[in-house]
Amino acid sequence: MNGAVEQACPLYVGGKWKEVVGQGSSTVYNPSRGKPIASVPMCGTAEVDEVVAAAKAAFPDWRDTPPSERAQVLFRLKILLEDAFEELCLGISTEHGKTLSEARGDLRRGIEVVEFACGIPTLLMGESLENIARGIDCHTDRHPLGVVAGICPFNFPALVPMWMWPIAIACGNTFVLKPSEKVPLTMQRVVGLLEKAGLPPGVLNIVHGGRECVDALLEHPDVAAISFVGSTPVAREIHRKGSLNGKRVQAAGGAKNFVILMPDADVERTVEAVKDGAFGCAGERCMAGSTAVAVGDAGDKLLPALADLVGAMKVGPTDVREGQPDMGAVISSEHRSRVVGLVDAGERAGAKVLTDGRRTKVDEAPEGFFLGPTVIDQVTPDNPLMETEVFGPVLAVLRAKTLDEAIALANRQAFGNGAAIFTNSGKAAREFRRQVSAGMVGVNVGVPAPLAYFPFSGWNDSFFGDLHIQGKESVEFFTKRKTTTTRWFSFGDGEVWAK
Ligand code: NAD
Repeated sequence: MNGAVEQACPLYVGGKWKEVVGQGSSTVYNPSRGKPIASVPMCGTAEVDEVVAAAKAAFPDWRDTPPSERAQVLFRLKILLEDAFEELCLGISTEHGKTLSEARGDLRRGIEVVEFACGIPTLLMGESLENIARGIDCHTDRHPLGVVAGICPFNFPALVPMWMWPIAIACGNTFVLKPSEKVPLTMQRVVGLLEKAGLPPGVLNIVHGGRECVDALLEHPDVAAISFVGSTPVAREIHRKGSLNGKRVQAAGGAKNFVILMPDADVERTVEAVKDGAFGCAGERCMAGSTAVAVGDAGDKLLPALADLVGAMKVGPTDVREGQPDMGAVISSEHRSRVVGLVDAGERAGAKVLTDGRRTKVDEAPEGFFLGPTVIDQVTPDNPLMETEVFGPVLAVLRAKTLDEAIALANRQAFGNGAAIFTNSGKAAREFRRQVSAGMVGVNVGVPAPLAYFPFSGWNDSFFGDLHIQGKESVEFFTKRKTTTTRWFSFGDGEVWAK
């Protein structure tokens, strides 16, 4: 599969595919080959009106469908996703560039959200207290919000959309999904499975586009809530605009995740985990361990082994069933240039490149958007590499004399998604866990991304809003509570009621 055929990306509205004509479009590439594979329409207000209207029309029936019946659709979907698993994963690798094994992780985590959502009858249960005053009872129950919109980034074509809609629809909402214009095809395939699973028309709809489309969703009076995942500047703006328009908003942003290396860390396991954390998915992960701080002589102990391991990584095309590389391409040629530019700037500022992936060539796929893995040491806090999220296969290494200094380095940056420590000292790990200003912490775990039943709990500039994605917080986000207080004054007439 080399993605030679260019595919259209229609709207999915009210259970029907609809070609969009007369709009501008954006090209979807197969990053392994650097070749176009699809074209996405850049929709605006008219298309958004259409999909929101379809979602609104489907809402009353879906809201009144018992939660156990809604869960049955998701149980059937889970089986269908398992049956189509390998085919979907190859599609993810083809439109995104990540390896097949990473694509399997992407979809597996997404399926876990579906499994979580299958428990919705229990998750939706309310609370009650009898006799809050004499003869008066009180109970609270959960109600869906209405039409909810989800806006997604490119880096997890399956998982991020599936963080959103399985739980949203399980709660009784109807959904408008705006996939990333760079990777729209995976969700297009999943819609076919949702139809087979028996999802009624209009419960899930898809619209495509960029800023104009998102703005139309943010301004639409019939959209009750927005779930967003993407870069920090956009997340901040979505949260601001959506909130001003009276919508409930959760907006997950970018990251710069610090990994603290203590001198007592287990060398072999640490080096392996740091490599995976920095270079898994070519560094295009919001939980990538992109910035290491070597404390004391940890750098001398760990970096030579790390450089050897990283230097041996094979980079290549991922749109093949056999002969997968260790790392695939980045998403676009522009993004590759941006990452190279950042490493160049970091080097000019005095950092030392230990493993250089800037000029990596892949003979079997010469037009692919490849970068090799880069380890850059002696990065100082004022280095330009520290100013922004790199989001590519680059590990920046800083040095610190003490654990306190390392924690202070991690805490001086604005993001707060993940952070990890590698050590054999329980005391050091405990201190780090308590002091570090990040919402997801790993102790000897390089990528501490929580599974579906926990919240994806980013802090600081990595998250805007109150209720996080995934887990019970997500059920809270997609529902509103109604609290009913009840008093009955008398029995009916007649002796039958008499006490
Ligand atoms: P992006 O912010 O460029 O785009 C995300 C979505 O927003 C896309 O659907 C895009 O069409 C839309 N968009 C882009 N610019 C917009 C604008 N000005 N106004 C309105 N909408 C706009 O992000 P990306 O490059 O697709 O994804 C990578 C980013 O996502 C990284 O920063 C990564 O850290 C972040 N991310 C965060 C998490 C998390 O949980 N915190 C998870 C995955 C990815």
